[in-house]
Amino acid sequence: MKILVINCGSSSLKYQLIDMENEHVLAKGLVERIGIEGSILKHESANKEKEIIKVPMEDHKVALKLVLEALVNEEYGAIASMEEIGAVGHRVVHGGEKFAESCVLMEEVIKALEDCIELAPLHNPPNLIGISACREILPEVPMVAVFDTAFHQTMPKEAFLYGIPYEYYEKYGIRKYGFHGTSHRFVSIQAAALLGKKPEELNLITCHLGNGASIAAVKGGKSVETSMGFTPLAGLIMGTRCGDIDPAIVPFLMQKENLSIEEVNNLMNKQSGVLGLSGVSSDFRDIEEEAAKGNERAQVTLETFRLRVRETIGAYAAVLGRVDGIIFTAGLGENSAKDRAAICEGFKAWGIALDEEANKQRGKEMFISTKDSKIPVMVIPTNEELMIARDTLALVK
Ligand code: ADP
Repeated sequence: MKILVINCGSSSLKYQLIDMENEHVLAKGLVERIGIEGSILKHESANKEKEIIKVPMEDHKVALKLVLEALVNEEYGAIASMEEIGAVGHRVVHGGEKFAESCVLMEEVIKALEDCIELAPLHNPPNLIGISACREILPEVPMVAVFDTAFHQTMPKEAFLYGIPYEYYEKYGIRKYGFHGTSHRFVSIQAAALLGKKPEELNLITCHLGNGASIAAVKGGKSVETSMGFTPLAGLIMGTRCGDIDPAIVPFLMQKENLSIEEVNNLMNKQSGVLGLSGVSSDFRDIEEEAAKGNERAQVTLETFRLRVRETIGAYAAVLGRVDGIIFTAGLGENSAKDRAAICEGFKAWGIALDEEANKQRGKEMFISTKDSKIPVMVIPTNEELMIARDTLALVK
């Protein structure tokens, strides 16, 4: 079966068409600036030249139609007709407490998703728009929703409650949800295979370090703790997000700088993280370049980021009791040998030793620790689209 995976943002739409016979990507692409001037579709079919289509796209439905046209295009498409699309898997950011697993999209599921909008006002509405556009254009094709939060629904209550009056958990659902669940799940499954064990036998710490970053403690294949929280703002220091800060800083800054709720939200989400700390960029590559030139603020930014990662790994070892593997994934985790080495340096006392040569490689599943390292350390490239496609296949079969 061929499965179309869709990930809708407020003005973007990412897609992949995957042949589940062999899990090969037949085509993929990205639409940007939907509803804004300068809409653009970048489409790529396997073994064909990249196609760039610039036409106005007033909404996600128009964008999706163009994507489907690109997929069946004689010259640069990947399939002969839309009938070849056996199912669609949608990435959905927030499933609240209602969804602990992926599920087939039916009327009541969509209703339940609408109830989750309050929890993810920026992410869920575009996800829903994508779903409804797809249902209009491909009414006969089964669809599945795969949630970023679902994997973390196995966290025990002591891990997901905050130290605020309990009534707010009951009244508003204020608790830790955790995100990047599809990625943490994917890499923990792949890591188990690499270790030659079943996920149920292993305690793993998965570090998803990209523009957004989070760490999860995965016990026996289930998430038991993670660093993102009620929103994806919590935990590690990220590209532009502040991560954990003393909550008293928020009212303090609002008062001192005369900031509105919107402004302080923007400050914490868009102007903070390594961008705000370094004053250089939200991209770690730029910061590393500046740090290498002797820029002290860039250097301390990297150290601050790495320290937070180490602290979280250390804490999750205490959560798990025994650690059978540490996994690095996502943009920085997959590519930055320097950061991985600096992070692991903190765990020499645990008997963790990196293999310098192995650590220099990138882009493939591999061990980067030495054979006698007490805890194996791995790089596993994440593949959320494939995880979504696998879930979709399993549910529509
Ligand atoms: P997103 O969360 O947007 O999906 P990615 O997982 O693609 O992000 O990660 C993107 C980030 O990964 C970039 O912003 C960059 O900081 C970091 N990155 C990618 N390659 C490297 C590298 N070689 N060295 C350091 N950082 C890198």
